[in-house]
Amino acid sequence: MPEVMTVEQAREAVFATLPEPVVERVALLDALGRVLAENARSDIDVAPFDNSAMDGFAVRAEDLVGASPESPVELDVIAHIAAGDAPEMEVGPRQAARIMTGAPVPAGVDSVVMVERTRVVSGDGGVGSRVAFELEPRLGEHIRLRGEEVRAGDVVMEAGEVVGPAGVGLLASTGHAEVAVYRRPRVAVISTGSELVEVDVTPGPGKIRNSNSYSIAAQVLAAGAEPVRYAIVPDDLEATRTAFRKAAEDCDFIVTSGGVSVGDFDYVKPVLEELGELTFCKVAMRPGNPQTLGTIGGVPFFGLPGNPTSTYVGFEIFVRPSLRKMQGFDALDRPVTRATLAHDVKKKQGRRYYLRGRVDRTGEGYTASLPYSQSSALLTAAHRGNCLVVLPQGEGFFPAGTPVDCIRLDMEEGTP
Ligand code: AMP
Ligand code: MG
Repeated sequence: MPEVMTVEQAREAVFATLPEPVVERVALLDALGRVLAENARSDIDVAPFDNSAMDGFAVRAEDLVGASPESPVELDVIAHIAAGDAPEMEVGPRQAARIMTGAPVPAGVDSVVMVERTRVVSGDGGVGSRVAFELEPRLGEHIRLRGEEVRAGDVVMEAGEVVGPAGVGLLASTGHAEVAVYRRPRVAVISTGSELVEVDVTPGPGKIRNSNSYSIAAQVLAAGAEPVRYAIVPDDLEATRTAFRKAAEDCDFIVTSGGVSVGDFDYVKPVLEELGELTFCKVAMRPGNPQTLGTIGGVPFFGLPGNPTSTYVGFEIFVRPSLRKMQGFDALDRPVTRATLAHDVKKKQGRRYYLRGRVDRTGEGYTASLPYSQSSALLTAAHRGNCLVVLPQGEGFFPAGTPVDCIRLDMEEGTP
């Protein structure tokens, strides 16, 4: 391993530590937003029977040849079929059945005429009535056929597909009260730092609130995984050991914040080396160059820097795609919008920058701007912005008008 990794090398190294996605069976609704782990087949034909797509009359199209508003054709109504009925009659020539949407189409008919194109001549429109038809239906019109969606035994959804709300409906109609999906990883969220106090405490002298624990847990949730927030770990060797050991026993992935720099009380790296393996601890990026990867007892460990923005960006670039990979998602990267810089930007040459900015549609194309402070201690830019403006390694000055990539934090992976 090089001492300082590029972002790409670092991401490859993180992906290489990940276990295979684990399959679990869950109640159908819990599958929403997750990746199906096995092909799902239908137990029945859907639709299960030919049924009417309209409220109207089921007819034989040949009876209505030539029917129009000027020369309507009259038929006798011999049945009245509601959704849920199981009609056994057969409709004969010059006869019709009054039928509701979703009701089974009886034997003998081949088309449905919507009620709006008919007129009751005598009776109430139900059985025993005579009805005039003002149009000639196409053969099969307004009839939804048995098996139109899927046939019994056929695959209705394939392993690897993401279950959206429509997919939940499809799985419901095909008999899946439970489905096999990939498990949400349990992610340990550990904040280190003797300066930290809980969120409900007003910080005393020299203290700050443990905001990273919440922002990281929120990012874990947003990535579809399950956060397990640990108590604050002070900058102390033994406390760090105890917390890391416990996390490696309880969780599938460990994320820490702080304690990975070269400070005198930064214990994350030494404890990681002692309990497991340290893979790298520097990535040529800004914010957040001390991004740290390792494993403890085979459990992937990612040490994010403590500065809230470095934490946030590091999670986006390394941890979020990892958690998605562990859940079987193919799409690991957010969409990127190519935009034109609205103003000059200067940077240090050696690192890739991820600036918290905005991308907006302007006329034909897109404009990238950085209207907020870029201090890595401040989160407002990440909150107000909608993208990470990427400035490549190796260059130092980007005049207004330079085309840049903007990673869309406001769009899901896989969005075209
Ligand atoms: P460190 O990486 O531990 O040197 O921390 C870098 C900076 O991030 C320091 O100013 C810390 O006070 C701040 N910081 C560390 N952990 C947290 C946290 N959990 N929440 C908010 N800020 C933090
Ligand atoms: Mg610290």
